[in-house]
Amino acid sequence: MTETLFYQVAVQSPLRRLFDYLPPDDANVAVLPAGVRVTVPFGKRQVTAIVVSSTVSSDYPIEKLKPITAVLDNAPLLPPILFDVLLWAARYYHHPLGDVLASAMPTLLRKGGELPSQRLWRLSTLGKGLPDGALRRAPKQQALLQLLQQHETLSNDALAAAGISAATIRSLKNKELIESCTRTISGPAFDADGKIDILTEAPLDLSDDQQKALERIELHSYHSYLIDGETGSGKTEVYLQAIAKVLRYSRQALVLIPEINLSPQTLARFQARFSCRIALIHSGLSERQRLEAWWAAANGTAGIVIGTRSAAFVPMKSPGIIIVDEEHDSSFKQQEGFRYSARDVAVMRAKRENIPLLLGSATPSLESLHNCQQERYHHLSIKGRHGGASQASWQLVDIRHSQLNTGFSQTVIEAINMQLAEGNQVLVFLNRRGFAPTLMCHDCGWVANCRHCDAHLTVHTSRPGLLCHHCESQQPLPSACPECNSQQLNYLGQGTERSEATLKALFPDTTVHRVDRDSTGRKHAMEGLLTQVNKNSPCILVGTQMLAKGHHFPGVTLVVVLDADTALFSADFRALEKMGQLITQVAGRAGRGDKPGVVMIQSHHCEHPVFELLSQHSYAKFAQHILRERQFSDMPPFTNAALIRAEFHRREDAFNLLQRARDFLESQRPSNPALRYLGPFPAAMEKRGGRYRYQLTLIGAERRDLQSLLSRLSHWLEQNKSARKIRWSIDVDPQESI
Ligand code: ADP
Ligand code: ZN
Ligand code: ZN
Repeated sequence: MTETLFYQVAVQSPLRRLFDYLPPDDANVAVLPAGVRVTVPFGKRQVTAIVVSSTVSSDYPIEKLKPITAVLDNAPLLPPILFDVLLWAARYYHHPLGDVLASAMPTLLRKGGELPSQRLWRLSTLGKGLPDGALRRAPKQQALLQLLQQHETLSNDALAAAGISAATIRSLKNKELIESCTRTISGPAFDADGKIDILTEAPLDLSDDQQKALERIELHSYHSYLIDGETGSGKTEVYLQAIAKVLRYSRQALVLIPEINLSPQTLARFQARFSCRIALIHSGLSERQRLEAWWAAANGTAGIVIGTRSAAFVPMKSPGIIIVDEEHDSSFKQQEGFRYSARDVAVMRAKRENIPLLLGSATPSLESLHNCQQERYHHLSIKGRHGGASQASWQLVDIRHSQLNTGFSQTVIEAINMQLAEGNQVLVFLNRRGFAPTLMCHDCGWVANCRHCDAHLTVHTSRPGLLCHHCESQQPLPSACPECNSQQLNYLGQGTERSEATLKALFPDTTVHRVDRDSTGRKHAMEGLLTQVNKNSPCILVGTQMLAKGHHFPGVTLVVVLDADTALFSADFRALEKMGQLITQVAGRAGRGDKPGVVMIQSHHCEHPVFELLSQHSYAKFAQHILRERQFSDMPPFTNAALIRAEFHRREDAFNLLQRARDFLESQRPSNPALRYLGPFPAAMEKRGGRYRYQLTLIGAERRDLQSLLSRLSHWLEQNKSARKIRWSIDVDPQESI
């Protein structure tokens, strides 16, 4: 008797376990490899699942197991190395494998859909049996018949190219002489093979630093390189030339970039340089387009794959290099569900594929700098900027005791005036959208609060109303105080809309463009604005971090940071790091053309050491300073952290679950000095969207200790009855406040 084979499959479900099935009833099916999709009965439904492994024993009695209903793929959709990386990610982030595997596939495939296929025509049995010289009186039909005698199958496109009309095809089909079939589209695989010229324009002559960086990159094995150089220093040029080398030996390149940086300009630059197909993967694609881009990467037709976070998991036929641009950007970390870091996944993937990884940034994350110090990454610096722009000079504007005109100091107003008079452009940065963050009654002190969150409602005037920035709930703007009926409602603080209004009043003859999520929501709004701004007539740009990222404003000579103080007193231990990165990035927008730039920072705390360091143009020194602080306080990257979150509409339940989780953890590892617990504490915003949110932080000196505790904890939480009603999650290497 032959042994029975059991398959373990992953199903998209909140459970961190696999499910056992018997082989399909169809005896002709060979052993299914990992990564093949199948349909299985699951409860009352039939669902798409992915084969993970097969064994000869099951923990379940065989009579309780059901067979796989259908096999959907001839070959694994996820190649073995990528599959391993996904298994690793599920373990590392303590997330259900079914969900993790699903994130590597476009929705259409998750739902059991087919790979992109093509309709082809071939002769039917009747057609094959026709005697020579048949259809002599219909020469067009005869021509089609002859073509299909020479080629087994032909697509509509190929037939059209051979001069066969749709009508001719229809006639032969109606006579049942030809029939259609489908075939998965695959190929021609991207293959440079030293023959085709993969470049469509000459590469630039590299500067010494660029050349040194490029030469350091070892292409045939795994190494991580941090390419550190300010905006405009020529990092992208180094990527392009490294990619060219990889393409020459027929390997593919994967380039990950933050969503906001995936502009038509970026794409145009790659397209201008390379002749190969470039697959783009981002959130703006339709399901169909996503499937096609995914498939072009997977089957090797695309030489280059450019994508945002989720592209870290796109299969590639022959990966040769992975590049993560703006590696410090927090959008690489998914903040809900499967909370992975695309950058860290890229590191693991490059390691397993044994290919190089380039991490590029003008403001590297403390993690990556730390990894360089530990000699896990090579640190490659590129100094200077191209196009001869000199470095901006910095000025700290002390606003203690000074009269502010809705947030603007007199010094700043005068400076703006001067720049405009000289025909220059000005950029005003304020990381808060809306008109005013708070609406308050002058007579009784009533404040407009969100009913579902511990947050004030933000006043918006462009689309008038009160809006909660945390749960998106909206209310009309009241004309009088709902408590005391007073008409004296005051706006406190300022957001971009208010700064825009102030600037328009102060500089009535100058165009003011506002750039934030509200103003650029419409498709192409940002592109239109960029075209206008880059015509270089004097104007003022006012906006949020959207202004700091990705876009180039060569005409801007003055950058104003209106409020740099918020981050100094944040509970989030990463707030300073992020503030330094943002200010450095904004400052990098100034003076890119032939005019030097000025950066003005308004603060009540100009003596704070971080401003001093930043204003010496030294993000590097600034980063070393906060890195030392992290070391003294035993925080990441010197330790490893995980955050256990719980939210529920009753405060006590969320709190109690985490308290018991902590008791459980402490019982597993009594008084281990290498492990610290913080909490359970309420989250920075305790109530959000009607739920109370608590968090428990684990900080461990050893990653392995922390990981084994988290495995036990996730098991405990899954088994725990009272945890079932509560929304809980485990966040490894959290980006948000600890
Ligand atoms: P980064 O990616 O660091 O912001 P880029 O690679 O985009 O820098 O380069 C900024 C500008 O300088 C681009 O317009 C680019 O074409 C130009 N540039 C980069 N490297 C060189 C070079 N070696 N010679 C001349 N121009 C260069
Ligand atoms: Zn009132
Ligand atoms: Zn709210």
